[in-house]
Amino acid sequence: MYKMVNSGMLETITGCISTGKESVVFHAYGGSMEDEKEHSKFIPTECAIKVFKTTLNEFKNRDKYIKDDFRFKDRFSKLNPRKIIRMWAEKEMHNLTRMRKAGIPCPAVVLLKKHILVMSFIGHDQVPAPKLKEVKLSSEEMKEAYYQTLHLMQQLYNECTLVHADLSEYNMLWHAGKVWLIDVSQSVEPTHPHGLEFLFRDCRNVSQFFQKGGVKEALNERELFNAVSGLNISADNEADFLAEIEALEKTNEDHVQKNGRKAASFLKDDEGPPVRYDE
Ligand code: ADP
Ligand code: MN
Repeated sequence: MYKMVNSGMLETITGCISTGKESVVFHAYGGSMEDEKEHSKFIPTECAIKVFKTTLNEFKNRDKYIKDDFRFKDRFSKLNPRKIIRMWAEKEMHNLTRMRKAGIPCPAVVLLKKHILVMSFIGHDQVPAPKLKEVKLSSEEMKEAYYQTLHLMQQLYNECTLVHADLSEYNMLWHAGKVWLIDVSQSVEPTHPHGLEFLFRDCRNVSQFFQKGGVKEALNERELFNAVSGLNISADNEADFLAEIEALEKTNEDHVQKNGRKAASFLKDDEGPPVRYDE
C-alpha cells in the first residue's frame, strides 16, 4: 500500500473503513498513475482499498466456493493459503469487471496487486455509502430499491452469468438514489455445483428484507428465484423447492461428467431446452 502512495497512484490513505473476517477496507484519495506508454490512467478521486486476509479456519471454510468453480479448477490443487488469498482478490476483480460491463452499479476496479484490490469508493468525503441494513428509507424509496434489486439480480444472472452468493442488506449500499452491489469475491457462475442453492439463499435474504421492510410487491423467495433464473420450479414449499434445485444441480453435474463443462447448461438458450431434473 505504501508503494501505491510513493508511486503517486494514491494521494493519501486516510484510514480504515471496515475490519471484517475476510478483509480490511481502507479509504484513500486517488492520485495519478502513468502506464507503460506514459499516458496517465484515470484514478478515481476517492478509492477503497480492500486487503484480503484469512485464517486457516476461514481458508478451509471458504475453499468450497473456489474449488468447485471450474474457472479456477486447474489451479486449485497447487495452491497454498497465500495464493488462495490472491485468488479471492482476483475473483473479486473479474466479477466486478463483468458487472461494470453490464452496467450494474458497483465499484470500478482500479488496480489489483497481489491480495490488494483498489477500486472506486462508493460514498463521499470519506464517508462510505450506508448499507441497506443501516439506512432508513421512505416507503417509496424502499419500493424503488426493491425493483432495482430485482433488476440487478436478473442482470447479474443473465448478462454476467453470475450468482452473488452472499447477497443481503449487508452487501448492498444505498448511494445517489441507487442500490450498489459490493463484495463479490465469492460470486460463482450458476453452473457451479451449488450455484442454484447459493441463488436461493440470496433470494431468501432479499425477499425477507424487503417484505419485512413493508414492500408488499416483493416476491417471495421462490417466486424471486424463478424470476431471476428463468427456471420454472413449481414446488410451493421450501423443502420441495430445494429438493428440485438440488436435483437440477445434480443433473447438470452428471451432464458435466459426460460431456464436459462447456456443453453443460440448464441456462443457455442456444443449446435446446433446459435440462430438467426428471429427464
Ligand atoms: P467483507 O464483508 O468480506 O469484509 P466487503 O467488500 O463487504 O468485505 O467490505 C466491507 C465493508 O467495507 C462494506 O460493508 C462497506 O461498508 C465497505 N466497502 C467495501 N468496498 C467499498 C467501496 N468500494 N466503497 C465504499 N465502501 C466500501
Ligand atoms: Mn461484506
